[in-house]
Amino acid sequence: MTRGRGRPAGGPLFDEATRQQFLDQVAAGAQLGEAAAAVGIHRNLPGYHARTDGVFARRLEEALARGKAARADKVPHGEYRYNVLGCRCKEICTPAASAARAGRRRAADADATREPDSPAPVRTVPKAPEPESPTSFLLRSRSSPPDRRAA
Ligand SMILES: [Zn+2]
Repeated sequence: MTRGRGRPAGGPLFDEATRQQFLDQVAAGAQLGEAAAAVGIHRNLPGYHARTDGVFARRLEEALARGKAARADKVPHGEYRYNVLGCRCKEICTPAASAARAGRRRAADADATREPDSPAPVRTVPKAPEPESPTSFLLRSRSSPPDRRAA
């Protein structure tokens, strides 16, 4: 059964092929949990092996760095990039973050002066009336008033 590697570190759950697939996912920008799910292992497994296997720990670290860069490359400049990735470019991110902060202040002020939104009423959909019932149309029109929220 052994494949001659002589060390049980990976075990059947996390053999080299699976490790490589996992690291590829991470390097491509997947979160650790996503990458684990993608290769069919428990999400704690890579962390466990990183603690007990220095070589794997370094590979994981490298994959994480590449994944972070890959994710960052995909993020357009804007508020999120300013807040999460620390981009302070003067062209887009810094003004976007300033504008968003100002917008949140205005929204907070507005919220303080009006009633909180009431939850949308639960509307039950009436059963399709039987065509031969003379009252079914009246019942239906009373139980489902026109939707005023659309106005
Ligand atoms: Zn930027």
